[in-house]
This record gives sequence, structure tokens and C-alpha cells, in this order.
Amino acid sequence: MKSVINRSEWRSHMADGVTSVSLLPEHIRVDAQMRDRVCASYPMFINRFFLSLIKKAEDPLWRQVVPDAMELDDDLPEDDPLAEEEQSAVPGLIHRYPDRVVFLVSGICPVLCRFCLRKRMAGKGPVLSDADIENAVCYIRSARAIREVILSGGDPLMLEDDRLCDILKRVSSIPHVRTIRIHSRVPVALPQRITGDLVSILRRFHPLYLNIHANHPNEITARAAEACAMLADAGIPLGSQTVLLKGVNDSFETMEALLMELLHIRVRPYYLHHPDPVKGTGHFRVPVTKGLEIMRRLQGRLPGVAIPRYMLDLPGGGGKVPLCPGYVEQDKNGMLVVRNYQGQRFYYPSG
Ligand code: SF4
Repeated sequence: MKSVINRSEWRSHMADGVTSVSLLPEHIRVDAQMRDRVCASYPMFINRFFLSLIKKAEDPLWRQVVPDAMELDDDLPEDDPLAEEEQSAVPGLIHRYPDRVVFLVSGICPVLCRFCLRKRMAGKGPVLSDADIENAVCYIRSARAIREVILSGGDPLMLEDDRLCDILKRVSSIPHVRTIRIHSRVPVALPQRITGDLVSILRRFHPLYLNIHANHPNEITARAAEACAMLADAGIPLGSQTVLLKGVNDSFETMEALLMELLHIRVRPYYLHHPDPVKGTGHFRVPVTKGLEIMRRLQGRLPGVAIPRYMLDLPGGGGKVPLCPGYVEQDKNGMLVVRNYQGQRFYYPSG
């Protein structure tokens, strides 16, 4: 009975979602006409739960989901700077690294994030057909170097239980696939979707990892904590992914609060992504130097387990590289000159 109640709860949050600025509650509606023009190019969707977390116009959650006229007026030319389309082996399957693939199983999202890496398709589908899914599974079966399948989208946890279970069954039955990872915004943006039924399905496919996309401490609600507890209690290791976003989380204090909140709800911070130069997202961009400065301040002030890696995704499908503040200043006459987190200088034998 409980899961039936939960099912209807997340569905009603989706059904009552907002698709235009004109329909936002008055206290968070700003420049509706101008902003609604953006929706013709880049659709808008905010489910009712996420909407309830927005306190005022231009707060960090509002900025993530409410269209901005600047989306139509930036100088970033590419809608797919990471060459995902080029690196798609078959429709819906990105094969960039030899041993893993990203399987875009869902075209549905709990909210449409204005900074999305896949802004070119967010809210527009395409939803993979049964034939596409079969084709992708055949490809994975034939490519024996693939050890990990990452389910992404859209949001994989927005699929119906049966559909998701079927995909997990097919992928996990391939002998050379050792692990499955799910990337999802659902545990924070629509935690009601984490039902008992869904968790019972997921726990059948261990080793299964789940990376949760969260960008601001205000997203870490009691409901999100409850959802993460259900997942963690089912033995699913939880990690987080955060995108560094101007006006949302580009300060040490906000990042610190987010990372500590994540750790508290049993989510291990995994990646802090430098924002990708996707057409229509220029107003979210932050200089790399600022990201490095935040990372420098996190070191030594937060438990190591709370510090994510700061990642840059190289253009043209070059792959991800970690960015790290330089602590080693010199390597001279067999001695390293190293600065600690307080800026003090130390000497350390290099050999
Ligand atoms: S939920 Fe994920 S895929 Fe969907 S719009 Fe947000 S970032 Fe993009």
C-alpha cells in the first residue's frame, strides 16, 4: 500500500509541473514574456516538488531551472562540444573510453536544467525505441572491452519500473559487463520517485552504483535524505556529481555546505564538473582559476572523504581530466618546495 501512495505522489508532482514562466507562482515570476520566448528553443519544466524548494526569484535553485534570455544570446557556438553524437556507436550509446559506455536510456527529466550538457536534447526527447535499446544492447554484447555501462539520459530513474528493470536485466546479463552505474538527479529533484518498489528492483543488480546530481545545499532536503537512506540501505554506493555554476555554487562557503550535507546523507562527493561550453549556457560559466581556488580552500578544511575531484571535459571528445591546485612550487636540488593548505611553505625530499 505504501509504495502505491508513493507512486502517486511523484506522478502528481510531475503532472503538476510548470512548463512556462507565466505559470510560475507570482512571488518567483520575473520577466515572464521575455523568458518564455526562450522556451521555444529550450523547453522549461519544473516539477512541483522542486518548485516548492525555490524560495525567491533568482535564488540558486531558481537560476538552475528558470529560462534566461541570455540562453539565446551567448557566444558559444556548439551545442555538442564534447562530440557525443560523433562518439555514438549506435543511437543512444556514447562510446568514448574503451572500457565503458554511456547509455542514454531516458528522454525524461524531473526538471530541465538550464545549464545541461545535453541542452540540445533536454526536454525534446528522443526517447529510444525498443529497437534502439536492442541495438545498443547488441553493441555492448559485441564489444568485449566494455566493463561498465553508465545509464544516463535524461534521467534513467524517470523510466517506468518495468522498463528500467528490463534494461538492467539485459545489460547485467552480458558477461563482460562488471558494473552498472546510474546517473540521476531524481534523489534530490524528485525524491518521491525513490519508492520501495524501485529500490527492490535496483538492489537485484549489484554491483550497481548511483551518482546523484546535486548543485546546492538547498537541494539536500529531508525528503532527499530519506531517498538516499533507502538507496544506501539497499547496499547501493552513492556518489555525487556537481556542476560548478556561476550564481549557484561558485563560492567556497556554498560548496563546503553542499559537500558536507551530501556526506551527511551518505553520499560520497565524487566529481565537481567544470561547466562545459555548451551553446546557451554561457551565463553559467566560471573561470577555471575560481574553481581551482575553491578546491584549494576545500583541502585541509573538509574531511578528505568530502572532497570531490574537479574535472574538465576536454572538447571534441578528448575525455575528462582532473584539475588540481598546484601545491608543489619547485623541485630543486632534490627538494620539493610545497605549500600546505594554510599557505605555509615546506621542503620535502623529492627522491
Ligand atoms: S536532469 Fe540531468 S539530463 Fe535532465 S536537464 Fe537536468 S542535467 Fe540535463
